[in-house]
Amino acid sequence: MDNNVKNIGAKAQIDFHCLDANCTGVIEFNLADISRKNFQAVCPKCHKTYEFDAVLRDKLSRMLKLVSAIRDAEDILGDSNVSVNVAGGSVKVPYALLLTRLNTLITLDLGDKKVDFHLWIEPSSADTFR
Ligand SMILES: [Zn+2]
Repeated sequence: MDNNVKNIGAKAQIDFHCLDANCTGVIEFNLADISRKNFQAVCPKCHKTYEFDAVLRDKLSRMLKLVSAIRDAEDILGDSNVSVNVAGGSVKVPYALLLTRLNTLITLDLGDKKVDFHLWIEPSSADTFR
């Protein structure tokens, strides 16, 4: 893992709801943490532990690279808009809004269950997207 990818870790946060039906805990961790060999996610409420298998770790580590690429392109994205066609014309949505205002949910297999992982990406500085 190069420094560029490491540096981004603090700003790419993942969370998911505890799979225990009686628990309302939310497990949070930094995307970069999953690269640690002994990484284990722990529910702060019921202390259930989650082991991530190789497939899931691989997907999350590639997600980290994607976040890194987005971070690297922040200055370009800050000038970019997504054009959405609507009745009567089109609406421009700045990429900045997509990255900072929308919740990204990634549904992945955790053991034998489908789990929605909630991804939070923050720009490297508050001034990046104004
Ligand atoms: Zn729990």
